[in-house]
Amino acid sequence: MAIIESVSENQGKKVFSLAKPSDKKPLYDIACQTKDEVHAIIAKAKQAQKAWAALPVTDRVKHLLNLRDVIVDQQDRIMETIINETGKAKQDALMVEVYTVAAFITYWCKQAAKSLKPETSRASGIMGFTKKVHVHYKPLGVIGVIAPWNGPFVLTANPCIQAMLAGNTVVAKGSEITPFCSKILEELCLEAGIPEGVCQVLIGDGATGDALITGGVNKISFTGSVATGKKVASRCLETMTPYTLELGGKDAMIVCADAELDDAVHAAVWGSCVNTGHYCCGIERIYVHESIYHDFVSKAVEMTNNMRVGSEYGVDEDMGAVFSEQQMAIIERHVADAVDKGGKVLSGGKRLDKQGLYYPPTVVVDTDESSSLISEETFGPVLPIIKVASDQEAIAKANASKYGLHGSVWTKNKQKGIDIAKQLETGSIAINDIGMMYGIANAPFGGVKESGLGSVNGKHGLRGYCHAMPILVGRYSGKDSGYPHNEKDFENMKKMMHFMWKTTLGRLFFG
Ligand code: NAD
Repeated sequence: MAIIESVSENQGKKVFSLAKPSDKKPLYDIACQTKDEVHAIIAKAKQAQKAWAALPVTDRVKHLLNLRDVIVDQQDRIMETIINETGKAKQDALMVEVYTVAAFITYWCKQAAKSLKPETSRASGIMGFTKKVHVHYKPLGVIGVIAPWNGPFVLTANPCIQAMLAGNTVVAKGSEITPFCSKILEELCLEAGIPEGVCQVLIGDGATGDALITGGVNKISFTGSVATGKKVASRCLETMTPYTLELGGKDAMIVCADAELDDAVHAAVWGSCVNTGHYCCGIERIYVHESIYHDFVSKAVEMTNNMRVGSEYGVDEDMGAVFSEQQMAIIERHVADAVDKGGKVLSGGKRLDKQGLYYPPTVVVDTDESSSLISEETFGPVLPIIKVASDQEAIAKANASKYGLHGSVWTKNKQKGIDIAKQLETGSIAINDIGMMYGIANAPFGGVKESGLGSVNGKHGLRGYCHAMPILVGRYSGKDSGYPHNEKDFENMKKMMHFMWKTTLGRLFFG
């Protein structure tokens, strides 16, 4: 995220002056939109929604495929915006943000007709003789999307794409420190010919986000920190607005004695440093079996020491800037706390002496489990490597966290990997792979414990932006279940129950 140089006020609006994380040069000032402005934008979205929802799904798909074309054509402009505001490496901007959005559009467009098609079936049980159920997937209306700064384009775009395909209009808000990484989505939608009012993006901070939640939207899709997620949930409850929360994590990597060592080391470094470590499913704790611990550590130190950090490496830059001073402070505090509690820094460990905000890939060993480097989300390029004597010890330590987002297990024995995975208290897990789970559109994604509420993506992700409305159609005008009550019907009901569940023939039909 961009560096906040100062916060001021102009004509009743909060103004942030932003600077680039890569060289600290001034970027621009942004004025936060007020409650009245937010409400006017929601009203416009409500007005646009009816016509948008009335389009056949195939037409909405065409619009979204046009958006994909515009994104692919405009990739350099999008990357420039992202790199200016975040300082992330060019490869991260391309892969984590631009490519992933185009791939999401492709997947959701393919799924749309199947996912949104009404379903008809007989009513369950004996009522199936006289009644049918049609389930319609109705758009909810206007969806409010609130996104964080670490994947500002993709985490704004993905929920918006799904919501729009399902027939909703969207009002999104990116972080105040990556405002145009989100705002650019509105511009790209208009360039793609998507009607005005279907996708609008606000500029603002928490107060602007709060105005969005309380402004009469029909669902909130929130991605961000646990602390803000709790505030968002309580505000949503006040107005009975449905919501999903995709929150922070402290993902554990478990490296078993029989792991493919080089692959696991490579994954540990990449999984901790991709996107400068500002990745919700990034590796935050590494539990390594004692029999391979020393080799693992020395290879990780060698690899982190060889990484190229800084924009002067151009497209070869392995890792970019830390996105903000606030995040740099958290990383520095966690490493210092680990050292205070007996941890040893074997590589990196100190911000780089450069014009921009750079922190090197850092290996820390002998970290006490009570230190904030193990208990809190660090969200930076730090690899705390911890020696364990057994898989069971690794599982217990991995589970001793308030977070439960993602994680990984490394072993040549896939069945053992699956057995370990099933014991982990986490939303999802990878075996011999790293945490790209959010980018896998057909995998349902959502944290447990403090890492979130509800789930997004998955084969029927679009239905999360719909009300599944059953329409019951009866054959006998309801007379089969009506008045007057009498003893004969009462006894017949008892006989029918006996037949259904106490006779062999009945069980054959009714289960
Ligand atoms: P944050 O919670 O500070 O902010 C997220 C968004 O909420 C921003 O747009 C912010 O302006 C807005 N906001 C702040 N206060 C608000 C309020 N009271 N009401 C409404 N909106 C408000 O999070 P962040 O620092 O921008 O993002 C980093 C966090 O996001 C990390 O914890 C990371 O793990 C998490 N994250 C989770 C996922 C996931 O899918 N689980 C993905 C990416 C990031």
